Amino acid sequence: MFAEAQRSARFAEALRLAVAQGLLGEQRPVAGFLDADGVRASVDALRDAFAVEPGVRVLHTFAAKAASLVPVLRLLADCGMGCEVASPGELRLAVEAGFTPQRIVLDSPAKTRDELRLALALGVTVNADSFGEIARIEKLRSPDSASVLGLRVNPQVGGGSIEPMSTATTTSKFGVALRDPGAREQVVGTFAERPWLTRLHAHVGSQGCSLELIAAGIAETYQLAEEINETLGDQRITGIDIGGGLPVNFAGDEARPAFADYVTALRKAAPKIFDGRYDLVTEFGRSLLAKNGFIGARVEYTKDAGGRRIALTHAGAQIATRTVFMPEAWPLRVGAFDGEGRPRSGRPVVQDIAGPCCFAGDIVAHARELPELREGDFVALYDTGAYYFSTPWAYNSLPRPAVYGFAGDPGGAGLRFAPVRDAQSLDSVAAESGLGHVDALTELCGAAHPQATQPGGNAHP
Ligand SMILES: *Cc1c(COP(=O)(O)O)cnc(C)c1O
Repeated sequence: MFAEAQRSARFAEALRLAVAQGLLGEQRPVAGFLDADGVRASVDALRDAFAVEPGVRVLHTFAAKAASLVPVLRLLADCGMGCEVASPGELRLAVEAGFTPQRIVLDSPAKTRDELRLALALGVTVNADSFGEIARIEKLRSPDSASVLGLRVNPQVGGGSIEPMSTATTTSKFGVALRDPGAREQVVGTFAERPWLTRLHAHVGSQGCSLELIAAGIAETYQLAEEINETLGDQRITGIDIGGGLPVNFAGDEARPAFADYVTALRKAAPKIFDGRYDLVTEFGRSLLAKNGFIGARVEYTKDAGGRRIALTHAGAQIATRTVFMPEAWPLRVGAFDGEGRPRSGRPVVQDIAGPCCFAGDIVAHARELPELREGDFVALYDTGAYYFSTPWAYNSLPRPAVYGFAGDPGGAGLRFAPVRDAQSLDSVAAESGLGHVDALTELCGAAHPQATQPGGNAHP
């Protein structure tokens, strides 16, 4: 039913139907769309890639931050996945989505004592980020806690092409920096003294990192596990969490590199990691979701400035934040559609695709050659199923856009839609902007100055 090659035709059909059904239009000028069949197919591809090593047990978790929407997490739970969470909010979403504690991994970089207490009480897996956090866990854990407990290490194998996305640089904030003087010995000693520590965790890269770099970081982590087990004379470390971070091809439809390429790179760098002595945990986010979603946005106006055609749309920094601020690192492919949601053809015109935010840099595509866009047309921003519409930014008091899922109709042709997140109302925007505390500051400063409030006649008593 689902094939990668048909993705662009399928998304075009989804956009056309969304316009026909009023999910996108003048009143609803921007929304996110997620292909639920595509998500299932991506999970299958991940599972199949690791199935070439039948001797090893793998828990595939989804990194919740990549698509922090409860129905999406529920779909992934239904696919048999676990969930990696990195904040109290994400932990809450994972629990609400129905992941059992055995399938939840907590990796927050700055866990509070309360967060640790809750995680230990629930029995979710906790990867400590530092020696300081191990000390806290030691005080808080009860001996009968069901939590698997581990330590995150930074193998310091270096960064990729996007500095803020590189987690294994020398000075990365994550984990214990393994190559620092004395660090390795301290890690081994820490495990020696604490029999309840049984796991190592590394999340080496992300967008911009090569498979070889990621695999090298995991190989270092595997070697550390071997060293600890040899030193302690038993199989203390029973599991290795190899993180996520497979990059996504933003240049075309193809999912490249594939999960199978990742497994091949890992087999080359650390063949014995698959021999069954270690349970493995993965934490993929972007690579599972990005290609399965797109943003649809209406063209409100077009104009020319300094010889440049500009299409003013409703998709800008509030929904494509990374692309607007780092356009070279996060280029998005754009599709052009007419007012009925049919693909536009015709001679390409160089255009800027701008967003609705009030700052000059709010451009999602610079000088892009596209069929000429007109008022009332639509654009699609592809590969935005992870970290885009699920992670909106509240700039300019722009409301969070709606998100819809779609799937093939089991009865035959056609696609069906379901709401995943409602568009935010202006009442909600006002409430989240402190409406409930409207008088807080004037009252704090004492009585209102009469002359300041007289002209409108609305002075508060
Ligand atoms: C963000 C994150 C992931 C997922 O990264 P992707 O690049 O989306 O695959 C996995 N593990 C940890 C600890 C993370 O912070």
